[in-house]
Amino acid sequence: MRKILSRGDQMLGKMEQMIQSKAYELGYEKYGIIPLKAMEGYAERFEERIQKVPASEPFYQRQRRLVDPRAEYPWAKSVVVVVSRYGKYKIPPSVKGHIAKSFLFDARVDTNTKEYQANQDIEKYMQELGLRIETNSKFGIVGMRWAAMQAGLGIIRRNNFFYTQSGSWVGLKAWLTDKEMELIETPSLPQCPKGCKRCMESCPTHSLSADYTMLPTACISFLTTFGGRDLPHEPLNKHLANCIYGCDICQDVCPMNKGKWQENEDFPGLSNLAPKLTPENIMNMHLDFYRERVQPKFFYLSPDELWKWKVNTLCFMRNNYQEAYKPYITAACDDENEKIREMARSISLELYN
Ligand code: SF4
Ligand code: SF4
Repeated sequence: MRKILSRGDQMLGKMEQMIQSKAYELGYEKYGIIPLKAMEGYAERFEERIQKVPASEPFYQRQRRLVDPRAEYPWAKSVVVVVSRYGKYKIPPSVKGHIAKSFLFDARVDTNTKEYQANQDIEKYMQELGLRIETNSKFGIVGMRWAAMQAGLGIIRRNNFFYTQSGSWVGLKAWLTDKEMELIETPSLPQCPKGCKRCMESCPTHSLSADYTMLPTACISFLTTFGGRDLPHEPLNKHLANCIYGCDICQDVCPMNKGKWQENEDFPGLSNLAPKLTPENIMNMHLDFYRERVQPKFFYLSPDELWKWKVNTLCFMRNNYQEAYKPYITAACDDENEKIREMARSISLELYN
C-alpha cells in the first residue's frame, strides 16, 4: 500500500518523504528506501542458490559485486529503489514472442524515454538534497529484486521474477546513498497459488527446475544474449522455442500476470524499428544498420556481434521451420562468419539431406 503523506508529514520535510513525493510526481509506480544492512539476507540467498545448483557458480561469480556494495562504496548507508511499469506499451506483432518484452521496452540507456528522464530527474533531486549517490544504470548496483522486496514494494515469485500489482512487467532501478534512511511499504500481494508449477513446466530448457531455483546458463535469456557464444555446439539450441533475443515464457504463462499487460502507449522509436527485426530482416541486416539502430538498444550484444543475432535467428528458423526460410538458411551456409556458417550448415544437413 502506498503511504499517503499528510500535509503535516510534508511540512516535516523528512528527506525520505520528499524523495517519495518527487518519485510519484515523476511517475514511478513504487518507491522505497532500505538501510544497507537489509541487503545482508541477499548474500545468504546468493550462496544458497550456488549450493542448490553448483553448475551456476561461474555465472553467479560475475554478480558477486552485488552482494557487498560496501566493498566498493564504503560510504553507502541506504538503498533507494524505484519501480516503473512497462506492461502498458504496444507490442509490435513483428517482434511479439521473439524478442523479450523487457528488452523491447528497456529504458535503462534510452534517452528518448520518459523512464530514463525520470531517473535523471530523481538523481538530480537527490543530489540537490545533498545526498551522495551512486548507481549502475545498465546492470544494477545491488541485487535489485531483493532490495525492492525488502522495501515492501512487491514479492519475488517462484519463477524468480519480481512482481507488483502490475505483475512482473516492471523495471527496477536502485541508488546507493550516504544517508541512513528507511521508507518501507507493506506489500499486499497473494503468494503463488499452492501447487502451481506452470512456470517450471513451461521452461523449454528446464533452466527453471524448482521453486526459486534455476541454472542461469541454461536459460534462453542467457543463451540468446550475453551467453551462448557457441550455439552451433550447444545441445539446448533445439529448445529455444520461438525466442530470438531473450525469453518471456515463464512470465507469460504465470497466472499472476493474467490481464496485467494493457497495450495503451507507444514506446519511443519501436514502431519504426520493429519491422526491421523480423527473422528475414535480421538475416539480411547490414553491420552499419545494426551498429546504428539495433545495438544501442539491445546492448547485451556488442557492436561486433550482429553474427550472434543471425545465429540466434537461424536457430529460430530451424525450430519454427517454414519453407520460406530455406533461402536464408542456404545463403547463410556460405556466410563469411564462421559461427553463422556452422549453424546454417548443421541446420541444412538436418533439414535438407
Ligand atoms: S526465461 Fe525462459 S528459459 Fe529462462 S527460466 Fe524462464 S522460461 Fe526458462
Ligand atoms: S507460474 Fe505459478 S508458481 Fe510460477 S511464478 Fe507464476 S504463480 Fe508462481
